[in-house]
Amino acid sequence: MSTLDVDVVVVGAGIQGAGAAQAAAAAGYSVVLLEQTGIASGTSSRSSKLIHGGLRYLESGQLKLVRECLRERTLLLRNAPDLVRLTPHYIPVYRDTRRRPFMLRLGLSVYALLGGLRPELYFSAVPRRDWATLDGLRQDGLQTVFRYFDAQTDDAALTRAVVRSAESLGARLLLGGGYAYRVAAPPDSRCVLRRSSARRPRRVHHALA
Ligand SMILES: Cc1cc2nc3c(=O)[nH]c(=O)nc-3n(C[C@H](O)[C@H](O)[C@H](O)COP(=O)(O)OP(=O)(O)OC[C@H]3O[C@@H](n4cnc5c(N)ncnc54)[C@H](O)[C@@H]3O)c2cc1C
Repeated sequence: MSTLDVDVVVVGAGIQGAGAAQAAAAAGYSVVLLEQTGIASGTSSRSSKLIHGGLRYLESGQLKLVRECLRERTLLLRNAPDLVRLTPHYIPVYRDTRRRPFMLRLGLSVYALLGGLRPELYFSAVPRRDWATLDGLRQDGLQTVFRYFDAQTDDAALTRAVVRSAESLGARLLLGGGYAYRVAAPPDSRCVLRRSSARRPRRVHHALA
C-alpha cells in the first residue's frame, strides 16, 4: 500500500472536479484528482455544449443567476477563445406561440442589460426576406424571428483543458478504477490518501473537496 499526503482530494474529473482541482491548486493546496473511468467520461461530455448566459432563468426571475452566468460566459470567451465561441441562436415566434414578440424583446433586452450591454448581447429581428435562408425553418404562421448570441464549446475538450491547467498548477491526476482509495482526514484536517492495490472494492470511502 502506498500513501500520498495531500491537502485536497477531488473525486471525479468531470468539469466540476476539474474546476475544483484547478482552483485548489491555484490557491496553493496540494491536490489529487481521482478519476475512475476517464476525463469527462460522465455528463461533462454529454451536455448540450452550450455556455449559455441563462436566458431561460429570466422567466423565473433569477436575475442574479443570469448575471453570474453572463459574467462566466464573458470570462470563458476571453480565456479560452479556441474552445468557446459565440454562435447565433434563433427564436421563431408563430401566431400560436405562447411567448409573444414583446415578451421576447423585453427578455432579450433585460438579458443584454444584465450582461452590461456588451456587443455580443445585441439582438435583432431577422428581416422577413432572410427567413428562407434559415435552414429548416417553418414559415407558415411565422410572425417574427429573433436572433441573439450564446456561446458553444466542446465540453470534453474544455474539461481536458481545465484538468491540464490544474496539473500545470501542481495537481496530480490519478486515473483508473482498478484500485481502492481510502482517504483519512486527521484532526488537523489535512488529508491522507492511501492507495492499495486491491482490485475490489472500487470506491472512495471519504473525500474532501
Ligand atoms: C443533456 C444535457 C445538457 C446539458 N446542457 C448544459 C449546458 O448547456 N450548459 C451547462 O453548463 N451544463 C449543461 N449540462 C450540465 C452539465 O453537463 C453537468 O452539470 C456537468 O457535466 C456536471 O459535471 P460533473 O463534473 O459534476 O459530473 P460528471 O461530468 O458526470 O463527472 C463525474 C466524474 O466522476 C467520476 N466518478 C464518479 N464516481 C467516482 C469514484 N467513486 N471515483 C472516481 N471517479 C468517479 C466519473 O467517472 C465522472 O468522470 C447538461 C447536461 C446534460 C445531460
